[in-house]
Amino acid sequence: MSLTKTVLNNSSVLKVNTANTRHCLTDVVKTEDWSDFHFTKITESTVSRAMTSRYFKDVYDYAIADVIIVGAGSSGLSAAYVIAKARPDLKVVIIESSLAPGGGCWVSGMLYSAQVVRKPAHLFLDELEVPYEDEGDYVVVKHAALFTSTITSKVLSLPNVKFFNAVTVEDLVTKPCEENDKNSKLTVSGVVINWTLVTMAHDTQSCMDPNVIELSGYNEDGTRDYSKKHGVILSATGHDGPFGAFCAKRIAALEPETTEFKSMKGLDMNKSEDEVVKHAGSHKGGVDSIFFCGMEEAEIYGLSRMGPTFGAMFVSGIKAGEEILKHFAK
Ligand SMILES: Cc1cc2nc3c(=O)[nH]c(=O)nc-3n(C[C@H](O)[C@H](O)[C@H](O)COP(=O)(O)OP(=O)(O)OC[C@H]3O[C@@H](n4cnc5c(N)ncnc54)[C@H](O)[C@@H]3O)c2cc1C
Repeated sequence: MSLTKTVLNNSSVLKVNTANTRHCLTDVVKTEDWSDFHFTKITESTVSRAMTSRYFKDVYDYAIADVIIVGAGSSGLSAAYVIAKARPDLKVVIIESSLAPGGGCWVSGMLYSAQVVRKPAHLFLDELEVPYEDEGDYVVVKHAALFTSTITSKVLSLPNVKFFNAVTVEDLVTKPCEENDKNSKLTVSGVVINWTLVTMAHDTQSCMDPNVIELSGYNEDGTRDYSKKHGVILSATGHDGPFGAFCAKRIAALEPETTEFKSMKGLDMNKSEDEVVKHAGSHKGGVDSIFFCGMEEAEIYGLSRMGPTFGAMFVSGIKAGEEILKHFAK
C-alpha cells in the first residue's frame, strides 16, 4: 500500500511517500499498524538485578577515587572531560545533588535559550563539536541545552568516570597533612555523601547516617602514603544557594584562620570571566587537596558575578583540570 502524507515546507505543499521511509525498526515491524510488535520477554527481578548489581559494584569500586568532582554544572563537567580523557587510568567520580547533570547550564540568562560564549572559549565548543553562530568576538550556541547534553554524553561515555546523581556531598573528610604535627595544615581526604532526599530530610528525621568516598593515596590508619600521589577533590558547586558553594562554606567554617567566605561581588562581565579563570585551580588557602572551578570561586574569593556568559565556566574547568593533571604527573 502506498501511503502519502501532506507536509508544509517553505509554504509549498509537498507530497511525501511514507512507504519509502526507513528507520531502525523497519525490518522488525512487518505490519502496517505495528500489531505484531513485541519487546523481548523479561522478569521484573531481572530488571532489578541488572540495576542494583551494577550500581552497588560502582559504589564498591569507587569507594576510593583519584578525583572527586563535587557538582556536575558546566565547570565541573568541563573539568571531568579534560581529566578523564587525558588520564584513563584515574578513577573520576562526579557527585551531583540534582537528578540532572548540567547545573545552571540548561538555560541561559533569565531562562532564555541562546548561550553566549566569548572567544577564545569557542575552541572548547569546537573540540566537543557543538555548533554555534560566529558573531566575531563571541559565538552563540542556539540553546544552552545543546552544550550541556553534548558534554554530558561525552563525559559519561568515558569508562573511568562514575556519575552518582541525586547524591549530595554533606561534608568533607579531613585529616592533618602530617599526622604527628599538631600545627599541620588540614588535607581533605574524602567526601561524606548521602541521597539528596535524605539530606533534605535531616531536619525531620534523626540519625540517617551517610556514606563516604575516600581519596586514593592514604594508608589504612588514615595517614598519607607518601609513596603515591594522593587523590584530590574538585569543588564546582556553583553560587551560594540551597546546596551551592558547599565546599567553600565548609572550608571557611573548618579553617577560619586561613579561609574566608567572601561572597560574590556585583556583576561585571569583563572582570569576572577573567578572574574566574585566573583563580581556578588549587585552593588558595590553608587546606590541601581541594581545587575550585566555576562560580563557587566567586563566593570563596569575593569575585564579581559575571552574568549570562558561559566561557569562564568551561575555561575555569579546563584550567582546574590541567592543574589536577599536573598534580598527578609530578
Ligand atoms: C544567586 C545566583 C547568581 C547567579 N549569578 C550568575 C551570574 O552572575 N552569572 C552567570 O553566568 N550565572 C549566574 N548564575 C547561574 C549559574 O550559577 C551559572 O551560570 C553557571 O551555571 C555556574 O556554573 P557552575 O559550573 O559554576 O555551577 P552550577 O551550574 O551552579 O553547577 C553546580 C552543580 O553542583 C551541584 N551541587 C551543589 N552543591 C552540591 C553538593 N553539596 N553535592 C553535590 N552536588 C552539589 C548543583 O546541583 C549543580 O548541579 C547564578 C545563579 C545563582 C543561584
